Amino acid sequence: MILILEPTASPESSEYKILTSQLDRLPSIRYRVHREVGAEVTLTEIYLIGNTGALAVEQMQVLPCVQKVVRVSEAYRVLGRHKEGDDRPSGFDYNGVRFGQDTLNVFAGLCAVDSPDSVDAMMKALKEHGQVCTRMGAYKPRTSPYAFQGFGGKCLPYVFELAGKHDIRVIAMEVTHESHVDEIRDALRSTGNPTGVMLQIGTRNTQNFELLKLVGRQQEFPVLIKRGFGITLDESLNAAEYLASEGNHKVVFGLRGMKTNMGDPHRNFVDFAHVPVVKRLTRMPVCIDPSHSVGARSSSPEGILDIFHVVAQGVIAGANLVLVDFHPDPAKALVDGPQALLMSELSHFLDDVAIAREAYERRVALATRHGVL
Ligand code: PEP
Ligand code: MN
Repeated sequence: MILILEPTASPESSEYKILTSQLDRLPSIRYRVHREVGAEVTLTEIYLIGNTGALAVEQMQVLPCVQKVVRVSEAYRVLGRHKEGDDRPSGFDYNGVRFGQDTLNVFAGLCAVDSPDSVDAMMKALKEHGQVCTRMGAYKPRTSPYAFQGFGGKCLPYVFELAGKHDIRVIAMEVTHESHVDEIRDALRSTGNPTGVMLQIGTRNTQNFELLKLVGRQQEFPVLIKRGFGITLDESLNAAEYLASEGNHKVVFGLRGMKTNMGDPHRNFVDFAHVPVVKRLTRMPVCIDPSHSVGARSSSPEGILDIFHVVAQGVIAGANLVLVDFHPDPAKALVDGPQALLMSELSHFLDDVAIAREAYERRVALATRHGVL
């Protein structure tokens, strides 16, 4: 059960103290307080854990400071969309950018940072196209221990400085270890916080629970968690819930294809039909990654790349973020060159995304007119 408190509720007030003393007296119930201090309002949620079936919603509703009571009906307590009375908003703002289940942001960028020139060329092109988000891999988990593992902390200062130069607000960057979060935080500080970072948990780490707990305990950076490529959707959504249960509610869920030979000749079996499923089960914005699902630059007879096709499929189904690999010179890319789009394809790509987004918006309007919602 979740108690959503009045925005004015302050832990110092006598009403709040009465509330917590009442909660302390509930038999077999523990509780955890989550406070999110926003620019305009402070959101306080109290999660009751234990034998909450014995509590009546009406009984909790009259406690001091309580604005609303939500009975948790589904597995994903914090991030889930619960049936009874759950109109909590989806999404969050980060560094001036809104991420929600109703917005769309493109994160085009380098799979792996390889040189200041590539980063500069990428970000310059993004700025020219009005983009404020990108992807930049500094820590690369690779199948082979002999493959390039990313430049790590060494490249962060120039990546962040160039982001500042080109007005990039948010960089999606994978982390595989606690120390990476510290390195990112330190590099942002030492360069004067010119940009923001969305920490990425890759598909190989979806069930690295200790990493999830650590990343979940900090609230400075939002997190993009990718679906595990060999586990169920439920297991991956529970992994996202690990982040939220530790306190970080700014979580985006990423679909990136599943490992199965049924996907051949794509690198993975594209799972973007699950965009609306994740939006139905949870309040997380949903990201699609066409590059790591398709993994190649093959195209259809009408001359459209498979990567473009699957992006359109995800966006027309309501995806909220698109994470996609580009490179100024894919032949020289140190990671995933074969799936990278060319800088000269950026305009075409963004225009194609806009067509799919417009079609999605028209479909929502149509569904509303037909009273499906
Ligand atoms: C990536 O986005 O760079 C990446 C490695 O993705 P995934 O974890 O989905 O393989
Ligand atoms: Mn990659």
